[in-house]
Amino acid sequence: MTVRVRIAPSPTGNLHIGTARTAVFNWLYARHNGGKFILRIEDTDEERSRPEYTQNILDGLTWLGLNWDEGPIFQSDRLDLYRQAVQTLLDKGLAYRCYTSETELDEMRTAQKARKEAPRYDNRHRNLTPEQEDAFKAEGRRPVIRFKIDDNREIVWNDLVRGKVTWRGSDLGGDMVVARASDESHIGQPLYNLAVVVDDIDMNISHVIRGEDHIANTAKQILLYEAFDAAVPEFSHTPLILNQEGKKLSKRDGVTSISDFQQMGYTAEALANYMTLLGWSAPDSTKEIFTLEEAAKEFGFERVNNAG
Ligand code: GLU
Repeated sequence: MTVRVRIAPSPTGNLHIGTARTAVFNWLYARHNGGKFILRIEDTDEERSRPEYTQNILDGLTWLGLNWDEGPIFQSDRLDLYRQAVQTLLDKGLAYRCYTSETELDEMRTAQKARKEAPRYDNRHRNLTPEQEDAFKAEGRRPVIRFKIDDNREIVWNDLVRGKVTWRGSDLGGDMVVARASDESHIGQPLYNLAVVVDDIDMNISHVIRGEDHIANTAKQILLYEAFDAAVPEFSHTPLILNQEGKKLSKRDGVTSISDFQQMGYTAEALANYMTLLGWSAPDSTKEIFTLEEAAKEFGFERVNNAG
């Protein structure tokens, strides 16, 4: 199998240390296997995405020596492809228009909270009759498009870091929104899980290597691969870089981006070495200094630590 991996940063901030570390693992895996490392910019969130952040991400990766083989590919250039995919789900009867209003969603969540239940969409618009739909349209409601999630499904994959992972459909929050406000002639903004799967299929991604904060997304995404009759890639969820309280590193921790480390005077080599050994241990554990090329010769997921 040809190894094709990717990183897919969202340009909503400077290159984050966590994203850079994910990039390191993807790069090492691609180089170890003679594969391809693809860069995709996930800029579908128009309000939060900024060109200067895209530039910062490209500059940071280049500075670290993480050269990519294909891309950057911009999701904002591919919206039609995602809309076609949403249409496919509608045509197959796997997705539907949901007219539930924000107020109704709030009431649903409040009632669930009172019952000490996890928040979820209760799938109330899954089987609307044409008359019911017409009545909602007459009220001027604009539907989102939801993908059906079977509560009884068990989703299982063999994670390259965590081993066998099992997820229940009922833990995925109910039918999932794949596109924002839409009407008969127009499908609104496609959302993350949908766009990622369309791209990973289209780009023939063989291994999805990303932080373990994406595990629930992986379960949802596997259902989308099945809906598109596409082969499911291998998944590898790597431990996150945490702060001293054991929480995901955030802006409040001060030093979070590669630019921050640059300003503090770190060299690219030192930082790449540090990120490589955060979560991966070399077969020879006495060796502590690696260039990326040296690490690539020995890299594999069996030596990435499993925090889960
Ligand atoms: N844009 C997502 C992120 O930055 C990509 C996650 C993924 O690799 O699918 O977290």
